[in-house]
Amino acid sequence: MTDSTLQTFLETGAYLRGHFRLTSGLHSAEYLQSAKILQYPNIAENLGKQLAERMPKGDSVASPALGGLIIGHEVARAMGVRFIFTERDAEGKMQLRRGFTVEPGEKFVVVEDVVTTGGSTKEVIELLQALGANVLGAGSIIDRSGGTADVGVPRVALTTLKPETWPPDFCPLCQQGLPVEKPGSRK
Ligand code: ZN
Repeated sequence: MTDSTLQTFLETGAYLRGHFRLTSGLHSAEYLQSAKILQYPNIAENLGKQLAERMPKGDSVASPALGGLIIGHEVARAMGVRFIFTERDAEGKMQLRRGFTVEPGEKFVVVEDVVTTGGSTKEVIELLQALGANVLGAGSIIDRSGGTADVGVPRVALTTLKPETWPPDFCPLCQQGLPVEKPGSRK
């Protein structure tokens, strides 16, 4: 593996290899725990700079909490613009809270740590657009969709991956009898 972003994931223990049950219910031999790379402010700052260089510059950056908070903040710092975030309400609907406002025509970019299907990024984009914002693009540190995630605006990522996943019944690691773990539970 020569990619420098992936190398940093490996060095910080953020790129896990094993047997994992993903949120989607699928099993995989690898998992990215981006909180483990973003716990180092100098690394987060550097990743934010790299993303900011590849993205159109808007008036503001927005990210979905919690995953997008640190990297979105660092992209906004690199761009010299403000940063706001969205949260899910009790029904799971993405909302803008805490008194954050969006001006009609305000130019935004949306930033997340890891894009898998692009679902969260797309929800943030649609929320901002419904408030009259002009969303110029979206970015993430890692794209786990192999480049296929479509969020309706141009998208960039520092690294693109297509990890192999399996339904539990077809998982070769299950067939080998290896215990499956839920990411995040590892000490
Ligand atoms: Zn399995």
